[in-house]
Amino acid sequence: MAKYIPDIKSHRWVILAPGRLGKPAASNKDYTISTKNGLKVAQECPFCPGNEAKTPPEIDSIKKDELWLVRAFSNKYPITDIHEVIIHSPDHCQDLEDFSDEQLLALFRIYKKRLTTLSSQGVPILFRNHGVTAGTSLPHPHSQVIVLPQQINLESLFLEPVKNMVLDNNHFVLYCPDFSQYPYEVWITHKDCSKYEFGASELLEIKLEHFNDEELLDLGQLVQKTLKGLQKILGKFDYNYYIAPKPPFYLRLIPRVVTRGGFELGTGLSTNVLDPAVAAEELKKVIR
Ligand SMILES: [Zn+2]
Repeated sequence: MAKYIPDIKSHRWVILAPGRLGKPAASNKDYTISTKNGLKVAQECPFCPGNEAKTPPEIDSIKKDELWLVRAFSNKYPITDIHEVIIHSPDHCQDLEDFSDEQLLALFRIYKKRLTTLSSQGVPILFRNHGVTAGTSLPHPHSQVIVLPQQINLESLFLEPVKNMVLDNNHFVLYCPDFSQYPYEVWITHKDCSKYEFGASELLEIKLEHFNDEELLDLGQLVQKTLKGLQKILGKFDYNYYIAPKPPFYLRLIPRVVTRGGFELGTGLSTNVLDPAVAAEELKKVIR
């Protein structure tokens, strides 16, 4: 059982999560990769097809021809009482930036399914850790969803105004908000958000659980373009992204190119060495 410890003065919380003990340490261990039915798989990876019995029982999946495209199960080393893992695809080496539209849609559909199911049990936060400095321990591409009790005070940001726009498509816009805490952090939000004033109740209806397939694919494609563009600037890079735990919808992607130092830890302030307007201009040149 996770235990929630409050700091009375600041209304901040710590989660004691003894279930995390025993979690494999982050490593750059090399797996032996082989090709099976056109997929890259690693025999010793618990997330690869053929090793399903090595994970907790499947909670959800989307299949094609009896084979799973994406699957979800409980995290073996949970932070809270409901903590799920979502495997991005059966391929050990391929991730979002190289997915077909079919695979992208499957991923964002299962995001929607899990968030829809879990939102009745608390506040679900869906996130992706990519790379050792971003906190991942197993390399097979996956996301996670953690459900928090409603009464826990979150420090998540509200949707930042759309400034320094990089690109848009039918339903979404990609931008670098003025309030960017990290170099090259990018936000994606739904265009409908700009129709309403700050505080309007309609904004609370704009969430991933309400997006249709066309919107889900649009969103997936914009995340894909963002990752490809950032790779052109940063090379191979570690990153986190998460979906706002409370509406209105945004997806915030943070490349892990800086570490927070004593000043930031001591004050809670952020120092961003890159002006978001400059980041947006750079990104415009490489994202199309
Ligand atoms: Zn794998």
